[in-house]
Amino acid sequence: MNDLTSHQLLNVREVKQLPFYQPVGNECALFEYAYHHQLPLLIKGPTGCGKTRFVAHMAAKMARPLITVACHDDLTAADLVGRHLIGDGQTIWSDGPLTRAVRLGGICYLDEVVEARKDTTVVLHPLTDDRRILPIERTGEELQAPQEFMLVVSYNPGYQNLLKNLKPSTRQRFIAIQFDYPPAALEQDILIKETGIDSATAQRLVKLAGHFRQLKNHDLEEAASTRLLVYAATLIKAGCDPLLACQAAMVEPLTDDLDTAAALREVIKASM
Ligand code: ADP
Repeated sequence: MNDLTSHQLLNVREVKQLPFYQPVGNECALFEYAYHHQLPLLIKGPTGCGKTRFVAHMAAKMARPLITVACHDDLTAADLVGRHLIGDGQTIWSDGPLTRAVRLGGICYLDEVVEARKDTTVVLHPLTDDRRILPIERTGEELQAPQEFMLVVSYNPGYQNLLKNLKPSTRQRFIAIQFDYPPAALEQDILIKETGIDSATAQRLVKLAGHFRQLKNHDLEEAASTRLLVYAATLIKAGCDPLLACQAAMVEPLTDDLDTAAALREVIKASM
């Protein structure tokens, strides 16, 4: 991977403002226990249900820099740890996002970790047990993670197949939280707070999502996420016709099948 791509994937944020996060259960308390006791955290859940927002919120709350890596199937251990770069006739070492997080005592969030190449477990394992070390083979360094460093990984169990799964020996190094779409009343609050939409429209959108979610595994591969509801609410709040907004935010992103799309539009017409 060239430096530009790795730079695009890397998002180091010194979070000043607390990003809005609506707690759904005891996940905030669990995160704090994990952070204060140096335990790595695994978050499971469907796309768009609040995992990333939760981590951003908790990183800000713990006043730690957040370093996010969107994992993909070409991501290697070297992409995480770092590599030698050649420039001006010199070879210089450049820390990868994981190494940077360890040095900074930050929170490293590996989003969709199951996508990464298997060799990444080689660097994650010594960091996720009581040794908390990051061996950097290429420089001979061995970093001891400071107390403030925390590793958080997430994945969507719905996307899993036999080839893409976390090995039990990896999973069992984390404490884990299952996320799902928030209960209706909380999801409505999220729409109102995120977009400023009125409560009647928020209620209709959440009800509509409920109908769509029942279709998962039948006509839809993926359920309508909270993220898509936020998109629909944003469009409506901006003055977009609700039917058009729901079609653009909640039908087209979910299906390419014309019959399914037509059926979903009927559900929207009946609900909005
Ligand atoms: P994931 O990482 O699970 O794919 P995100 O964290 O990016 O999903 O959530 C998508 C969007 O949904 C967020 O940008 C936010 O607008 C909204 N959202 C979902 N859950 C919550 C929540 N509990 N509190 C606040 N916003 C939420």
